[in-house]
Amino acid sequence: MSQKVYEDMLREAGVKPTKVRVAIMSFISLNHGPHTVEELHENSSVTCDLVTVYRAIGLFEKHNLIQSCDFRDGQLRYEYNPEGGDHHHHVICRTCHAHEVVPLCVPDKWRKILGKLGYSDVSHQLEFFGLCRGCTDSG
Ligand SMILES: [Zn+2]
Ligand SMILES: [Zn+2]
Ligand SMILES: [Zn+2]
Repeated sequence: MSQKVYEDMLREAGVKPTKVRVAIMSFISLNHGPHTVEELHENSSVTCDLVTVYRAIGLFEKHNLIQSCDFRDGQLRYEYNPEGGDHHHHVICRTCHAHEVVPLCVPDKWRKILGKLGYSDVSHQLEFFGLCRGCTDSG
Protein backbone atom coordinates (compact mmCIF):
# COMPACT_ATOMS: atom_id res chain seq x y z
CA MET A 1 0.00 0.00 0.00
CA SER A 2 1.73 3.12 -1.25
CA GLN A 3 -0.15 5.50 1.06
CA LYS A 4 1.93 4.01 3.87
CA VAL A 5 5.04 5.75 2.50
CA TYR A 6 3.41 9.16 2.94
CA GLU A 7 1.99 8.28 6.33
CA ASP A 8 5.50 7.41 7.47
CA MET A 9 6.91 10.56 5.87
CA LEU A 10 4.48 12.71 7.84
CA ARG A 11 4.96 10.77 11.06
CA GLU A 12 8.73 11.03 10.83
CA ALA A 13 8.44 14.79 10.34
CA GLY A 14 6.24 15.00 13.43
CA VAL A 15 2.95 15.61 11.60
CA LYS A 16 -0.10 13.50 12.47
CA PRO A 17 -1.06 11.68 9.25
CA THR A 18 -4.74 12.37 8.69
CA LYS A 19 -6.40 11.15 5.46
CA VAL A 20 -6.37 14.62 3.92
CA ARG A 21 -2.74 15.29 4.82
CA VAL A 22 -1.63 11.94 3.38
CA ALA A 23 -3.57 12.68 0.16
CA ILE A 24 -1.97 16.13 -0.21
CA MET A 25 1.48 14.84 0.63
CA SER A 26 1.25 12.07 -1.96
CA PHE A 27 0.03 14.49 -4.65
CA ILE A 28 2.68 17.09 -3.92
CA SER A 29 5.56 14.62 -3.88
CA LEU A 30 4.44 12.88 -7.10
CA ASN A 31 3.66 16.00 -9.13
CA HIS A 32 6.26 18.68 -9.60
CA GLY A 33 4.71 22.02 -8.87
CA PRO A 34 4.85 24.41 -7.48
CA HIS A 35 1.14 24.32 -6.73
CA THR A 36 -1.16 26.93 -5.24
CA VAL A 37 -3.29 25.89 -2.28
CA GLU A 38 -6.34 26.03 -4.58
CA GLU A 39 -4.69 23.61 -7.00
CA LEU A 40 -3.85 21.26 -4.17
CA HIS A 41 -7.42 21.48 -2.96
CA GLU A 42 -8.76 20.66 -6.44
CA ASN A 43 -6.38 17.75 -6.89
CA SER A 44 -6.75 16.19 -3.47
CA SER A 45 -8.06 12.64 -3.75
CA VAL A 46 -9.85 13.15 -0.43
CA THR A 47 -12.73 15.64 -0.29
CA CYS A 48 -12.21 18.41 2.24
CA ASP A 49 -12.62 22.16 2.56
CA LEU A 50 -10.03 24.71 1.52
CA VAL A 51 -9.27 25.73 5.11
CA THR A 52 -8.17 22.17 5.89
CA VAL A 53 -5.75 22.30 2.96
CA TYR A 54 -4.36 25.65 4.14
CA ARG A 55 -3.80 24.17 7.59
CA ALA A 56 -2.10 21.07 6.21
CA ILE A 57 0.18 23.21 4.03
CA GLY A 58 1.06 25.41 7.00
CA LEU A 59 2.05 22.32 8.98
CA PHE A 60 4.05 20.80 6.12
CA GLU A 61 5.97 24.03 5.66
CA LYS A 62 6.68 24.36 9.36
CA HIS A 63 8.10 20.83 9.38
CA ASN A 64 10.18 21.41 6.22
CA LEU A 65 8.31 18.88 4.11
CA ILE A 66 7.54 21.48 1.47
CA GLN A 67 8.93 24.83 0.43
CA SER A 68 7.09 27.88 -0.76
CA CYS A 69 7.82 29.72 -4.00
CA ASP A 70 6.82 33.32 -4.56
CA PHE A 71 6.10 34.04 -8.21
CA ARG A 72 5.03 37.60 -7.25
CA ASP A 73 1.53 37.22 -8.56
CA GLY A 74 -0.05 37.44 -5.15
CA GLN A 75 -0.24 33.69 -4.56
CA LEU A 76 2.31 31.52 -2.84
CA ARG A 77 3.01 28.17 -4.44
CA TYR A 78 4.30 25.07 -2.72
CA GLU A 79 6.33 22.09 -3.72
CA TYR A 80 7.89 19.05 -2.20
CA ASN A 81 11.21 19.67 -0.48
CA PRO A 82 13.22 16.48 -0.85
CA GLU A 83 16.12 16.12 1.53
CA GLY A 84 19.36 16.39 -0.37
CA GLY A 85 17.80 15.25 -3.63
CA ASP A 86 16.09 17.35 -6.19
CA HIS A 87 16.52 20.81 -4.71
CA HIS A 88 16.11 23.52 -7.35
CA HIS A 89 14.73 26.95 -8.07
CA HIS A 90 12.58 28.45 -10.82
CA VAL A 91 12.71 31.17 -13.42
CA ILE A 92 9.40 32.96 -13.96
CA CYS A 93 8.41 35.09 -16.95
CA ARG A 94 7.36 38.56 -15.79
CA THR A 95 4.86 38.85 -18.64
CA CYS A 96 3.12 35.49 -19.07
CA HIS A 97 4.07 33.87 -15.72
CA ALA A 98 5.36 30.74 -17.42
CA HIS A 99 7.95 29.02 -15.27
CA GLU A 100 10.78 26.56 -15.67
CA VAL A 101 13.02 24.68 -13.30
CA VAL A 102 16.49 26.11 -12.71
CA PRO A 103 18.63 23.18 -11.58
CA LEU A 104 21.01 25.15 -9.40
CA CYS A 105 21.30 26.63 -5.96
CA VAL A 106 23.37 29.31 -4.25
CA PRO A 107 26.83 28.10 -3.16
CA ASP A 108 26.93 26.36 0.21
CA LYS A 109 28.90 29.22 1.80
CA TRP A 110 25.75 30.70 3.27
CA ARG A 111 25.54 27.77 5.70
CA LYS A 112 28.87 28.75 7.24
CA ILE A 113 28.05 32.45 7.29
CA LEU A 114 24.64 31.97 8.88
CA GLY A 115 26.07 29.40 11.28
CA LYS A 116 28.56 32.01 12.46
CA LEU A 117 25.67 34.41 12.99
CA GLY A 118 24.14 31.74 15.22
CA TYR A 119 21.33 30.56 12.97
CA SER A 120 20.44 26.91 12.57
CA ASP A 121 17.74 25.14 10.56
CA VAL A 122 17.90 27.86 7.90
CA SER A 123 15.77 27.68 4.78
CA HIS A 124 15.89 29.90 1.73
CA GLN A 125 13.72 31.18 -1.06
CA LEU A 126 15.14 32.16 -4.42
CA GLU A 127 13.35 32.68 -7.69
CA PHE A 128 14.57 34.28 -10.89
CA PHE A 129 12.42 36.64 -12.94
CA GLY A 130 12.86 37.45 -16.63
CA LEU A 131 11.22 37.53 -20.02
CA CYS A 132 10.70 34.15 -21.67
CA ARG A 133 11.59 33.57 -25.31
CA GLY A 134 7.98 33.77 -26.46
CA CYS A 135 7.43 37.12 -24.78
CA THR A 136 10.74 38.51 -26.08
CA ASP A 137 9.91 37.53 -29.67
CA SER A 138 6.46 39.06 -29.63
CA GLY A 139 8.07 42.28 -28.36
ZN1 LIG B 1 10.08 23.22 -8.70
ZN1 LIG C 1 6.52 34.87 -21.16
ZN1 LIG D 1 18.39 26.57 -3.15
